[in-house]
Amino acid sequence: MMKTITRTDERILSADVFGRDAQQTREALGFWQEDAQNIPIYRRCQVLVVGGGPSGTAAAAAAAKQGADVVLLERYNHLGGLSTGGLVIWIDRMTDWQGELVIRGFAKELFDRLPADAVAGPAPSDWGSQDEDTAKHWSFRTAAYHGIVTWSPTIDPERLKLLSQQILLERQVKLVYHSWVAAPLMKDGALKGVAFESKEGRMAILADVVIDATGDGDLFARAGAAFTNDIEEEDVHHCMNTSWMFAGVDMNRWIAFRAQQPEGYSDFMQKGREACGLFDRPFVSWRNDVALFMGPRQAGYSALNVDDLTAVEIRSHMAMDAHLAFYKAHAPGFEQAYLMLSAPQIGVRHARRLTGVDAVLRSRWSDGVPLPTEIGVTPAVSPKFPNISIPYGALVPEKLDALLACGRHVSCDRNSHGFMREIPQCWITGQAAGVAAALAVQHGIQPRHVDVNELQQALLAQGVYLRPQNTSKPTADAEATSAQQVRA
Ligand SMILES: Cc1cc2nc3c(=O)[nH]c(=O)nc-3n(C[C@H](O)[C@H](O)[C@H](O)COP(=O)(O)OP(=O)(O)OC[C@H]3O[C@@H](n4cnc5c(N)ncnc54)[C@H](O)[C@@H]3O)c2cc1C
Repeated sequence: MMKTITRTDERILSADVFGRDAQQTREALGFWQEDAQNIPIYRRCQVLVVGGGPSGTAAAAAAAKQGADVVLLERYNHLGGLSTGGLVIWIDRMTDWQGELVIRGFAKELFDRLPADAVAGPAPSDWGSQDEDTAKHWSFRTAAYHGIVTWSPTIDPERLKLLSQQILLERQVKLVYHSWVAAPLMKDGALKGVAFESKEGRMAILADVVIDATGDGDLFARAGAAFTNDIEEEDVHHCMNTSWMFAGVDMNRWIAFRAQQPEGYSDFMQKGREACGLFDRPFVSWRNDVALFMGPRQAGYSALNVDDLTAVEIRSHMAMDAHLAFYKAHAPGFEQAYLMLSAPQIGVRHARRLTGVDAVLRSRWSDGVPLPTEIGVTPAVSPKFPNISIPYGALVPEKLDALLACGRHVSCDRNSHGFMREIPQCWITGQAAGVAAALAVQHGIQPRHVDVNELQQALLAQGVYLRPQNTSKPTADAEATSAQQVRA
């Protein structure tokens, strides 16, 4: 019997969380011994990025911009990870509660270059607005919380895939799709590269620095780095589900129903839960005729267990089918709805988090002080808190060398993971990891020894937002020279 989980006040989203049915056990069938083998070296590079999600794409773009020779390996056929293939097309909050754009750098470059019809969200003049009508309008369109309008747009995933790929090709990043990283290659305790599997079989890539952008910490965990995986059980942040989109809808009609008939809406949701079990409401997308479902959220499954991953896919696909029937029959605006797409990538919010030399911590949320090692700034979960400083140490493993982590598995506690896993923050940590990796290569040092002041200057030169203590900018000439040095 499925249970709906109660929530704490640390939550961001209002949504049901559905606990799993009975746990499956797997029969113990013993072992098969694999033969040791020599594998071909596919390529050598300075910076290898594993995973092409938001963080990996930003890392590769930034490392290449900093002058490094970069390879990016991705198991699927596109860039963007969950923000495209996972249909997580709501890019949550790049402005702070005063309306200042704090997620910049690679993120800003993306939004400057995406076609206008690929993005839906409030105009810059409305960011930070507390005007009641404006905030109400955007509250139904993913872009206003606590009565404040924020820059949290929805985007066309195909356009983001294309643009991400275009940027990396422009910077001469070597893209390798359809390649699953299977293991770190270690020598005398040091990371030398990775072994990956493709249709060509198993091959190796050797690199000076490897960036783990798998989201699940696949690489740092297998290389022996310490990690944590504790969760806030009542919250959505560890839940999994496969998102989907319905087309042929009229979201403006649906929103009018929600806004003008709150009792009718509440009755609709109650009947939906009774009819479908797992049940969720739609989000807007970048188009009025496309509805996005990023739930129902399922708790109690592991993103590191293949049977659990399969079970979540099956439950999500069945939920999509049940939702279509119920919404077509009962939801204003959904009469002509049809299945558009279920996400090719399963929605994993949490698997492992690196144990870094530093971390983003709940105990620092109230400080409002830029850390000396700040490599990015994130808006806080609510206007109660000031902006939060992301330290470089959140990307650096406690002990393992030649590796940096970025994206949803960076070093943070379970509360801070709620926002550190969001797409804007993944762009920020990705960009920082990319620049730091390039600097480590340039100076022939380990990433943990990168001079943080130099890193901050290089990030500022790439358009990243950092706080006043770090604002002296290098000249364009200095930037070009450092790029040449790394390539040399
Ligand atoms: C259902 C759901 C709803 C969400 N809602 C929001 C939201 O509204 N707003 C928001 O901003 N964020 C949201 N998030 C969070 C956000 O989407 C992710 O946390 C973010 O995309 C993580 O980026 P990443 O680069 O760290 O990892 P991912 O996006 O997971 O990318 C990792 C990439 O690495 C590849 N990879 C993994 N392992 C390997 C391997 N071994 N070899 C080769 N490639 C590999 C994967 O194929 C993938 O492309 C949501 C997440 C989910 C699941």
